Amino acid sequence: MGNTKVIERAELDEFKLKRAQRQDLKQLLSICREYIGEIDEVQITKAFKLCYISHNGMVRASGEPYYYHPVEVAKIVAKEINIDDVSVIAALLHDTVEDTPVTLDDIKYWFGEEVAQIIDGVTKIKGVFKSRDSKQAEAFMKLLLSMAEDIRVVLIKFADRLHNMRTIHHLRREKQLKIANETMELYAPLAHRFGLFRIKNELEDLCFKTLDPTSFKFVARKLKEKKESRERFVKQFMNPVRKELKNLKFDFEIKGRPKHIYSIYKKMQRQQKPFEEIYDLFAIRVILGEPHKKEDCWRVYSIFTDWYTPIPERFRDFISVPKANGYQSLHTTVITNKGKKVEVQIRTRKMDDIAEKGLAAHWKYKEGAQEGSESLDKFVNWVRDVLDNPRPEAATDFVKDFQLNLYQEELYVFTPRGELITLPNGATAIDFAFDIHSEVGERAMAAKVNGKMAPLRQKLSNGDQVEIITGNKINLNVSWIDDVVTHKAKSRIRQFIKQKQRSVAEGGRETWLKRAERGKIEISDQELTRFAKKYDFNTTQDLFYAIGIGSFDVNKLFSEVKKYKSTGRIEKEIQESEKATEEEIQEKYISQARAFGDGKSLIINGELSNVKYSYANCCSPIPGDDVIGFISRIGDIKIHRSMCNNALHLIKTEGERIVDVDWAKNIETKFLGAVKVIGEDRVGMINDITDVLSKSLSTNMKSINVGSDSGMFEGIISVYVDGLPHLNKIMKRLERVDGVKNVIRYE
Ligand code: MN
Repeated sequence: MGNTKVIERAELDEFKLKRAQRQDLKQLLSICREYIGEIDEVQITKAFKLCYISHNGMVRASGEPYYYHPVEVAKIVAKEINIDDVSVIAALLHDTVEDTPVTLDDIKYWFGEEVAQIIDGVTKIKGVFKSRDSKQAEAFMKLLLSMAEDIRVVLIKFADRLHNMRTIHHLRREKQLKIANETMELYAPLAHRFGLFRIKNELEDLCFKTLDPTSFKFVARKLKEKKESRERFVKQFMNPVRKELKNLKFDFEIKGRPKHIYSIYKKMQRQQKPFEEIYDLFAIRVILGEPHKKEDCWRVYSIFTDWYTPIPERFRDFISVPKANGYQSLHTTVITNKGKKVEVQIRTRKMDDIAEKGLAAHWKYKEGAQEGSESLDKFVNWVRDVLDNPRPEAATDFVKDFQLNLYQEELYVFTPRGELITLPNGATAIDFAFDIHSEVGERAMAAKVNGKMAPLRQKLSNGDQVEIITGNKINLNVSWIDDVVTHKAKSRIRQFIKQKQRSVAEGGRETWLKRAERGKIEISDQELTRFAKKYDFNTTQDLFYAIGIGSFDVNKLFSEVKKYKSTGRIEKEIQESEKATEEEIQEKYISQARAFGDGKSLIINGELSNVKYSYANCCSPIPGDDVIGFISRIGDIKIHRSMCNNALHLIKTEGERIVDVDWAKNIETKFLGAVKVIGEDRVGMINDITDVLSKSLSTNMKSINVGSDSGMFEGIISVYVDGLPHLNKIMKRLERVDGVKNVIRYE
């Protein structure tokens, strides 16, 4: 693919389609006009042309030209989802960025930011569906919602899958089974959750047809045999009721669609009955218009029972006792005088609306009431509303407002095996490790996020696949407390801090006892408490801790105690100080632990370290670079830049020896960095470069190697820098030197 352009940007408008494609375009436009209404025909035409040109020469498994597929997807988007022309344009181009030389920039140039973002989203969420545990459909939906910033991304994905399912018979059998299975387990339930019922039913039927063609054909044939007689029956059945309702001036609507094939088959399975005995192949629904109240539902019910015999045990009053999700309706099954059972549902328009919301309510009920669910309600209702009564103006407005920030408070990430883990937003790899198991958290040494080494402190993003590399010893460290948000991680780290405090205090006590013994002084713990208080410690334990960590001089305490022993009093004793909370003590500990480690340039796993380390020659990292540490066989650490090729190789082959390292804040040492300068070979170039370095940046240069070739100058300059910001400044400044074309970091 490379950088070959499919067409010059300026030439797209002028491109002439052949007759066959003009025909395809005409058909698409007329569908758009019919189902969407006002559309930008110029832009759709342009998108159609680009779709055709960019996929030209590509062929589908069916042997058809590839561009048929995006065009069909665009038709589904227009006809089944009918949102707006922008989604039709995006559907036409949904495979271009991934499969053709067309870039997102090209899309932006021709069709604007909005279309480009949708296509980018469609390309990105492709990975989400791959090799995931498909049983977690609801969590997946949330993941999709949070990843796809624009709802149209997900809708196009459904249309794409629907067309792939419609044409699945062209694929090899194994592939068919795999795709149908995935669709059944993931896409169909998701479509259901989205309120895309027609699409969901069609997906289910197509999957069923693929997975069990014999049963599918059987049910389909049976339904077809009965179609005419069924329609005749519904009409006859409703006739007397309809007449009576009209006489009573009822405002009503009757629906009597058959259920889809797969649901009928499931019923046969569940009830262990042959097709002929499934009586509820369809349900008749009577919906009463706005002025009617629930009493009127009972009146309708009594009209039915005037004509038909109800089966008492099949009667359900969900009006007096609504379902947990708020669903209200009267259900009854009646028998005609010929002995046929018919299921009847009676409800008001308002109840019908609530029944539509029922899905979302059910969701909320299961998920616990969260703020995000409200937006979901809004969304589900909207989709269903649009499906039932296409009103494009309302739809486009909604799409504009609807930013998919439904689940900002939650984060969905994966284990290497594809299991889904839900964490609060802001969670890091450390939280993830503790969520897996407290032992994994304690022994965590480094993390791989989406296959790349990452610091344990890294905040995770939606959809990340996270792997924790553990050592055989406990590796937990106190400063992690600032990097975690989950309760589990926090409490374990606090517990660890306490243990550590205790052992430090124990050491401090020993130091004191030795000093006291040497000075031949004896003092009770009770007396010592008064000294502790004097220095603002709550307990002797805290005092010992301060001695242990070295922030309080044991000799100072010794001379005070000695004075007290001879005079019998403690100078300026501080009265009972306010008791600090557990957390305050820990905070103090953490900040002390930090302060006492200063002066080193390396932080390993968040803690300043005494470990021997050196910088890898291959990539010469400088402070500010993203780095990783690699534990050598003799136990010291080599620091590489994390994108260094050698480091990447080590990660792959000896990942367990990688540690998370970072730069400490205040580093005195200078580091060697190198840049490559390319420009015109002119008189005074070297002078100007060295001037910039020494005069305006007061940077020391280690070496400069210059070459020139056919009028071009190329110099490699090694300089001593404080860190990355310094090096970046140098590069910026060098770029401004007269005649310099390019400045890059040199390794
Ligand atoms: Mn596609």
